[in-house]
Amino acid sequence: MTDSDMDSKNSSKGPAPTNFIRNMISQDLAIDKHGGRVHTRFPPEPNGYLHIGHAKSICLNFSVAEENNGFCNLRFDDTNPTKESQEYVDAIKDNITWLGFHWNGEVRYSSSYFEQLYGFAEQLILKSKAFVCNLSAEEAREYRGTLTEAGRNSPGRERSIKENQDLFTRMRKGDFADGKYTLRAKIDMESPNINMRDPVLYRIRHFAHHQTGDKWCIYPTYDYTHCISDAIESITHSLCTLEFEDHRPLYDWILQNLSLDSLERASDLAGTEYQYVLPEQTEFAKLRLNYTVIGKRNLREMVESEVVEGWDDPRMPTLAGMRRRGFTPASIRNFCESIGVSRSESIVDLSMLEHAIREDLDRHAPRAMCILDPLKVVLTNLQEEETEYLDLANHPKIDSMGRRSVPLTREIFIDRSDFLEQPPAGFKRLTQGGEVRLRGAYVIRCDEVVKDDSGGLQQLCCSIDKATLGKKPEGRKVKGVIHWVSAKYGLPVRVRLYDRLFTIEHPESKEVDNCYEYLNPDSLIELEGCIAEPSILAKGAFGNFQFEREGYFCIDSIDSTPELPVFNRTITLRDSWSGR
Ligand code: ATP
Ligand code: MG
Repeated sequence: MTDSDMDSKNSSKGPAPTNFIRNMISQDLAIDKHGGRVHTRFPPEPNGYLHIGHAKSICLNFSVAEENNGFCNLRFDDTNPTKESQEYVDAIKDNITWLGFHWNGEVRYSSSYFEQLYGFAEQLILKSKAFVCNLSAEEAREYRGTLTEAGRNSPGRERSIKENQDLFTRMRKGDFADGKYTLRAKIDMESPNINMRDPVLYRIRHFAHHQTGDKWCIYPTYDYTHCISDAIESITHSLCTLEFEDHRPLYDWILQNLSLDSLERASDLAGTEYQYVLPEQTEFAKLRLNYTVIGKRNLREMVESEVVEGWDDPRMPTLAGMRRRGFTPASIRNFCESIGVSRSESIVDLSMLEHAIREDLDRHAPRAMCILDPLKVVLTNLQEEETEYLDLANHPKIDSMGRRSVPLTREIFIDRSDFLEQPPAGFKRLTQGGEVRLRGAYVIRCDEVVKDDSGGLQQLCCSIDKATLGKKPEGRKVKGVIHWVSAKYGLPVRVRLYDRLFTIEHPESKEVDNCYEYLNPDSLIELEGCIAEPSILAKGAFGNFQFEREGYFCIDSIDSTPELPVFNRTITLRDSWSGR
């Protein structure tokens, strides 16, 4: 099969677009491979927060299992304790649940298989398929050879089985310092595939592990652990990203060279008869997005160097950041389906992600009004004490979202940008002597512009046309509609406007030396003194809103207080970048 054959033919419509992985699974089921089972896993390493790329893998693994009445395990691939932590474990579980997926049974950890993995390593030693190597890291690199040059055998390769057994036991006991020995598979130092040149299976690390504490001072490598963990859990389809393609021969070699009969199969399959077939690895292309960095290493660097405020900074492409920014789980799942799954590397346009969130919020976010840059307007023909409650729909098209009561008083705020003394031709909003409609209320006319001592615009005096509530004004056309908030009842809020973090399209490209030179200085603009209509607090603190004409917003889950709500703009109403 060629890559183009395998490319997905996805469109964003429909619940489960086909792709080469779904096709492969259908074919496997048709021939009853793996006893007709589909069992996948999502295997994050708990060394950072999940990002939108992980969401692609999560959606794929969980969906293909679900669609085929199968299972998807959550397994922490935790073989590198120096970089991992419980904080990451907790955040990852939280993010997957938030996305709306349920893993099969308990959370699993590669580290809970350490004893079994050790036993299998002893088995390889006994079969003369593994040996203890005493080359230093530097020597090992030298012996490994290059893409064009074969490697050389390690001097330890000819050690007797007995000596290997003895050294490996002592490695486990803690007799040796870090780096003194490794356990390596005995495969082929001349293999054109460098991964097959006697790869390391175990290394010594005197370092406490977040799950196993001080129990171990030797830790298995990813390649050795992953395939065996898949086999232990009776995984059928081990889906991973393309950089592991060259590791697949090693994945298969390890499983083929072990006697796995001793495995206790995953408990949820106990009692179910099926023909056991070794798990098979299949690779797909990673998600990459423009104007963003995605790799966990880069994201960690941004957190550590305080380019952003943390893993959950709303500008980060992490699930925690996107959630805080106001992205919904459905929007992320829809995006992941719409981009498809294939084997060709490509960079997805950020506007596709933005489209997915706009589409979801347009349907689900109640409308409200918030003034970002307030300009006071006195409605001179309303009484000081008068409050009129206007009945506005929460959503222009969806009646079931209900209605709200919006107070109108003599003093209101409108947005400064909705008034111009010297309007350009075609300006539809308020001008001196001109008319505009207040959203859901009356047509007003601007009778007077009040300036402060320094000549700055201070307030407007307007009058309302009482005959225009819910009706067209007589004898004239009023085209503009602007949003407004009662000065008396409006709530002071703080608003954060977010934009792309980078000004260049490919900050992760190899050609870019230092992507931090291209940080967008306007990626966060914080506005004080904004005024929102009071209904926003009645709607529950964590909902999404459309602030009319300003975009989609949500309350910040961390910095917001009842006294001073903080709103994050999730996304503008329209794509302001296209065409730039
Ligand atoms: P990164 O490249 O960001 O450091 P990783 O691959 O090291 O990520 P893991 O925690 O090992 O991160 O990833 C868990 C799973 O998510 C793996 O199966 C991995 O292939 C997949 N994954 C990681 N990044 C992406 C991505 N950008 N697109 C799709 N899948 C991804
Ligand atoms: Mg990884």
